[in-house]
Amino acid sequence: MSKFIFKTNEEIEIIRASCEILARTHGEIAKNVKAGVTTKQLNKVAEEFIRDNGGIPSFLNFNGFPYTLCISLNDQVVHGFPSGYQLRDGDIVSIDCGVIFNRYFSDSAYTYAIGEILPENQRLLTVTKECLNLAIEKAVVGNRIGDISFAVQNHAENAGFGVVRELVGHGVGTMVHEKPEVPNYGKRGSGLKLEEGMVLAIEPMINGGKAAVKFWDDGWTVSTRDKSPSAHFEHTVAIRKGKADVLSSFEYIEEVLNK
Ligand code: MG
Ligand code: MG
Repeated sequence: MSKFIFKTNEEIEIIRASCEILARTHGEIAKNVKAGVTTKQLNKVAEEFIRDNGGIPSFLNFNGFPYTLCISLNDQVVHGFPSGYQLRDGDIVSIDCGVIFNRYFSDSAYTYAIGEILPENQRLLTVTKECLNLAIEKAVVGNRIGDISFAVQNHAENAGFGVVRELVGHGVGTMVHEKPEVPNYGKRGSGLKLEEGMVLAIEPMINGGKAAVKFWDDGWTVSTRDKSPSAHFEHTVAIRKGKADVLSSFEYIEEVLNK
């Protein structure tokens, strides 16, 4: 990771524009997420939509990653490859996407339920999204990174879930990952002080079972060791006084899901 870089308001507005393309891309994906679709088809939808709207897929070719989307099924945590697998009722599927617009990056992820899922898995999705929202409440000037981290860990572990340690949130700017790291576990009041000009990807990765993960020999896919399901929700957020400025959005996804 590079040195930590503060963003001007002008830069934050470009990141917001990048996030808008990303949010609308997620909305297009949401229209297609259903039983029977292959995860490669979802990747194609996303790549075409991003390029048609003036963006560049930021994950594609990043350190050799071969796709626009990371699609992680069930016990996969993050960085799964799109494939010929057809989604089926009962699956949970995490879809992570990033866009480059006018040199600036955006990063956001959402976990979907396909058809009827186990109540325990639904609870995992609900709690992981709550973790993200609680973390965003802490993403304000005067707090520290550890306040964000603690908010995620505390809520997830109180629900009996495992918090992934090996992968973390990060700064967002002109690279896929910038400093600082934003862990999903930690102590209140610890770590770097949050200031205006910081733009962070906050991304709880929460396992239905234990926290431990394994790294596949494809070089990318991460899954739970105990084969429990895993969920991932992510927003790109600008630090402000009083209330965080959430630059990415699930609005277009939820419009589709609430129809
Ligand atoms: Mg992401
Ligand atoms: Mg990220």
